[in-house]
Amino acid sequence: MAGWPVRTRKERLTAPLRGYKLAHPMLSADGTRAGFAGVILGRSTVYDVVADAKCAQGERHKSPSRLCDCGFYCLHTLADARALACDPDYCYTVLLDVAASGRFLRYERGLRYARQRVSRVRVGRCACGQPATVFVETGSGTVGWRRLVAVCPACAGPRPGLSLAAFSRLLGGVPVESDETDSSLEQVADQELVPVLAAEIALLQARLDEVQRQLDRLANRH
Ligand SMILES: [Zn+2]
Ligand SMILES: [Zn+2]
Repeated sequence: MAGWPVRTRKERLTAPLRGYKLAHPMLSADGTRAGFAGVILGRSTVYDVVADAKCAQGERHKSPSRLCDCGFYCLHTLADARALACDPDYCYTVLLDVAASGRFLRYERGLRYARQRVSRVRVGRCACGQPATVFVETGSGTVGWRRLVAVCPACAGPRPGLSLAAFSRLLGGVPVESDETDSSLEQVADQELVPVLAAEIALLQARLDEVQRQLDRLANRH
């Protein structure tokens, strides 16, 4: 997802490195645990808040390996993660702040690495555009786990929902928050509104001028 490694030498992080990634929120079948699943790679593996990468292809090598695409992935910037969230493959995901550690491969825009701690979960908007405030089941999942999606109360409807706070508790207290800056449409709308209003006023003014001319013409006849 982020190109080939720019360095081929094996490296090990001396201090955890902050990164950002997208994942599907998951709830255990018995409803007592929360976790995450990969979007493209590792879709069938659910990981906890703290997790070590295992080879997604079932190989015996340590993950990540240059011979394989396994391991955890993250991007260096929040902006890149938010941009990726616009891709159809990544919609209905949540954005995770992670601390990456252990063996790693460096890419231009991110890392592939061995160990991860999730430090924050950012929840974007419901598919309808409203802020998502509750998790509901998608009807999809993997053995022992149900995949969730964050929606607004209106779209949740009568379905039972899990609040962001409840999801946070099931993660052992990792903050789960609305990604407030995820309102690009509103920003665009605000910027666009002024010219649209100006155009409508100009149009209205032109019509009023026309009406005024017609009234004047009628008045002059009498
Ligand atoms: Zn592998
Ligand atoms: Zn909605």
